[in-house]
Order: sequence, then C-alpha cells, then structure tokens
Amino acid sequence: MIISALKSSIASDERSPIHIDTIKTLVELGVEVWFEEDIGDGINVKNQTFVEAGLKKHSREDCLKNGNLIITNQALNNNDLEFVKSNTTILGMVNPFSNQDLINKCSSAKINLVSMEFIPRITRAQKMDVLSSQANLAGYVAVIESAKHLSTALPMMMTAAGTLKPAKVFVIGVGVAGLQAIATAKRLGARVEAFDTRDVVEEQVNSLGAKFVKIDLGETGETDQGYAKELTEEQINKQKELQSKVCERSDIVITTAQLFGRPAPMLIDNSTIDKMMSGSVIFDMAVESGGNVEGSEVDKVVDRNGVKIIGISNLASKVSSHASLALSNNYNNWIIDFFDSETSSINFDFEDEIIQSSVLVYDGKIKNERFQ
Ligand code: NAD
Repeated sequence: MIISALKSSIASDERSPIHIDTIKTLVELGVEVWFEEDIGDGINVKNQTFVEAGLKKHSREDCLKNGNLIITNQALNNNDLEFVKSNTTILGMVNPFSNQDLINKCSSAKINLVSMEFIPRITRAQKMDVLSSQANLAGYVAVIESAKHLSTALPMMMTAAGTLKPAKVFVIGVGVAGLQAIATAKRLGARVEAFDTRDVVEEQVNSLGAKFVKIDLGETGETDQGYAKELTEEQINKQKELQSKVCERSDIVITTAQLFGRPAPMLIDNSTIDKMMSGSVIFDMAVESGGNVEGSEVDKVVDRNGVKIIGISNLASKVSSHASLALSNNYNNWIIDFFDSETSSINFDFEDEIIQSSVLVYDGKIKNERFQ
C-alpha cells in the first residue's frame, strides 16, 4: 500500500498532515509513505529530513495518482480528483458540510472518503478526534492573540509604581476550545468568568479556578454526542441580555459557541458591544462558521468605537508544528486501528462504530444519510 500525504493548498494553513515525530508509526506498518514536495514548509521540516526518515518525495500529481490512501488536511478540489483512481481512500479533514460536491464526486468515481470530522465521541475514538485536538490549540491561540491586542497586561502586578489590576476575561462556550481558553487565561493570571448553555460544564469551569456565570434559560441540554442543542429565539435573546452585563465589565471576551453542522449562534450584538469599554477585545472563535459576534470578519480586526473585534481563520495553524503533530497522531491512530497487515489495506468493517461514523463514501455509496 502507498500512503500519500498532501501539502495544504490554502495559504493560511501551515499545518502538514504528517509530522516528522510521528512517521515512524506509519513506516513500521510496512507501507510506502510518499509526501508532496515541500509538505513540511509550514512546520520547519525540510524535504530531505522526511527522505532521510524513509519517505519518498513526489509531486502533488504523482501523490494523487499513486496513493492508495491519501491523507489531507483539506478537501480535494475537482482538479485534484481528476488524478485519483477508483478504490483509493481519501482520509482527512474534508469539511463535509460545505463540500457536498466532493462527496457526490467521490461516490460516482468510487473513491472512498473518510471524514475525520465525523469521528464519534466515544472513549475509544478520542485519540482520533481531530476537532478536539485542533480546538484545544485554537483555544490557546485565541487567548494569546487577544492579549496582543490589549493595552494592559493579564496578571495582577504589585510594583513600586502601583498595583496593576488583572485583566478580566469572559469565555462564552465551554467546549474543548473554551476550556483551553479558560486554562490559558488563568495561567496568564487573568480573572476568568465563563458561560455555556450546557450547565454540566459548571463543575469543569470551577475546577479551573474560573467562575461560572449562571444564566437561567429554561430547558437547554446536549445531544448524545455532547454537542449543544440549538436555543429558541426567545432563549437567545434572554442570554444576550443577561450576558451583556458580564461583557461590559470584561477586558477580553472570547466566544467559542458552535452548533455541529449548523451556523454558529449570534450571541453578541452591537448594543452589547457599544456598552463595552474602549480598548477591550472580543475574539470571535466562531467567525468561520457564521460568527458569534455582530460585525466580526474573517482575518480582520474590526474596530467599533475602540472595541476590537478579532476574527482569525485556521487558528490552530498559528501553532502549526503542534497542530501538525496532533493531527498526524489522530490520522495515524485511525489508520493503525483499521490496517490489515495481511492484505496491506484498510479493513472497512461497517460493524465498527468508528468506521460507520467516519466513512462518508465507500465503494461508490454515500454511507452517511445526511449527505445522501
Ligand atoms: P462545540 O465546538 O460544538 O461548541 C463549543 C461550545 O459552545 C459547547 O460547549 C457548546 O455547549 C457551546 N454553546 C453552544 N451554543 C451556545 C450558546 N448559545 N451560548 C453559550 N455556549 C454555547 O463543542 P465541543 O468543543 O465539541 O465540546 C462539546 C462537548 O463534548 C464538551 O463537553 C466536550 O468536553 C465534549 N467532548 C467529548 C468527547 C468524547 O467524549 N470523545 C470529545 C470531544 C468533546
């Protein structure tokens, strides 16, 4: 079997789907591993280093034509797909909700498609969970980037020149990214408050030394996969009204609220922003999926009466080497679990919950009913 690893085709994505510290695992399977030339540019690994580790350097076209398993951090476009032969498996982050066309094309060309975004949230699959591995890093980056835009320091400092108060950080949405944002802001010495519609997270917030903001929205809850349920319009309005007081007193507000497969909820509107202190920062981590903050724009810092509204795409890419390491481990763990060493191929066992959930297209059939 040949495994081909592709370079990112989007300029803002510095991550590589293979990392030098993780390739031994693949090589030990007894497969050939090819990589697209310059794949390590964003993570400071030279082609030669991969070659010395036993990998083969090829053009993108050759990787696409010859790989039996193609690993990628992005959906392939139509030009790429032209080169991929039937029975090949594409595995990676393929953003399926925005790429129905890719799913259809893979089906008609009998290319198997594995979406790592659809790894189920079960204990056995945590090691493959790309959304969590990247969200964790994104939460860290959001705090660091917000701090850069603040004109004060985060920790309290008692100096001869006076006492400097700690910054107040408010995190909205306490999933994987939110928890890491809270932990990072706490480590930097900020005072942190947080809110989530899933009140089960209160204990996690408290255990990080932050304060959970209680807002009673009536019945909220989560899905069997742990994702938040969508709120009614009335509930959203109530949330906006009650959390606006916390925003007013915060130096940094980080919003992470997402709804799986749907646009993110709009949680901070201009009426709240206009009550915030000049110089404060709002970091919209949901900017790529519709945004939690009115006026936020992808890859821009918008200034509204002195309040800076930040939206950055591909946040994990800002710590590309760690992002790449984590992704490579996620992909490797999937491959190892389903690699059949006797036939040197992937065993698509549809009795397995991980295969059922993550394989969107197999043998020409769209397996996930959301995309049929
Ligand atoms: P996510 O990215 O889907 O959303 C981020 C957060 O936004 C969630 O906590 C969600 O509840 C919250 N949110 C949605 N609407 C909101 C609103 N109106 N106001 C405030 N917050 C709102 O979430 P995630 O990071 O995928 O995590 C969801 C849960 O799943 C977490 O508890 C996480 O620990 C858990 N999880 C479990 C596994 C596993 O068991 N394998 C893996 C990953 C995550």
